[in-house]
Amino acid sequence: MSRNRAHGADRDQGDDGAPDLTDSVDHNDDFSDHDDSSDHSDDSNDHDDDPVDHDDSYVDHDNSVGHDNSVDLNAVVGSCDIALITLDTLRYDVAQRLFLEGRTPTLARHLPACGWEERHAPGNFTYAAHAAIFAGFFPTPARPGVHPRPFAVSFAGSSTITAKTCVFDAPDIVTGLAGRGYHTACIGGVGFFNKQNPIGSAFPSLFDESHWEPAFGVTDRDSTRHQIDAALALMGRLEARRRLFLFINVSALHQPNRHYLPGATRDSIASHAAALEYVDGQLGRLFDAMGRRAATFVVICADHGTAYGEDGYTGHRLGHEVVWTVPYAELLLSAPA
Ligand SMILES: [Zn+2]
Repeated sequence: MSRNRAHGADRDQGDDGAPDLTDSVDHNDDFSDHDDSSDHSDDSNDHDDDPVDHDDSYVDHDNSVGHDNSVDLNAVVGSCDIALITLDTLRYDVAQRLFLEGRTPTLARHLPACGWEERHAPGNFTYAAHAAIFAGFFPTPARPGVHPRPFAVSFAGSSTITAKTCVFDAPDIVTGLAGRGYHTACIGGVGFFNKQNPIGSAFPSLFDESHWEPAFGVTDRDSTRHQIDAALALMGRLEARRRLFLFINVSALHQPNRHYLPGATRDSIASHAAALEYVDGQLGRLFDAMGRRAATFVVICADHGTAYGEDGYTGHRLGHEVVWTVPYAELLLSAPA
């Protein structure tokens, strides 16, 4: 049912606008961060411009293994539905360990045999990472080389745009896909998608329709179920022949996540893992519905990771390996027979 290529990412610390009044340990303060000056990132000089090495030895021509870049997005766009699912804050090490331990059976049915692809996040918290992702800068494969991108917006000098890259003459891929006839829909999760204030409305406003309610946020124990219910409802309302671009920001992994681990009194890698098991238990309905509707190209990844005390760090919006290393995968869900 699925074919993959694959790669992944995770999410940010406390960017959930829902006030987490119970979490004294969580340094999630993406909304209260007044220090924009710390961000010296500039896409215009990101490694994307690297004209040097066109060695594609990293390309894996065996689709069954994934981690290649063989899907021609110019053939996908216009004929397939497209889904972008960010598993906010999911760490690569946790995602891959659970895959290997058989604790994420739904994902395992769709991921390549080797599991998640290890990638580097394009930002260390939700806002930065999603700004990059919507601009076509998905998490980068965590290995040297020039890595072609599936989607891009027109960007002079980019060496990661190839013949298989779908390039939009638009400021972001959401607008670009709308221009190709897609109905674009956002199911929000953490605070940067909660539509409760101007910044929480910025990303949702890119889409034709957007949805958020407290039941989608980080404090709801069954947030993923509610988010997928909303996704299935909008899919049901959309004319069958209309192509859909569906974005979902899954909030469950983000702190606080202790409520997924019975008896836990604080967030930990163990509760983070328990949250992923919960999410995995919900994704089957979504993947099945997508496959029933149309052939669907899915990018599922984290936006960034998070720290649980490693080297003294907690949360994200900081530069630590556990924050910048994220899981990523691309899947092709079959159309109905
Ligand atoms: Zn995030």
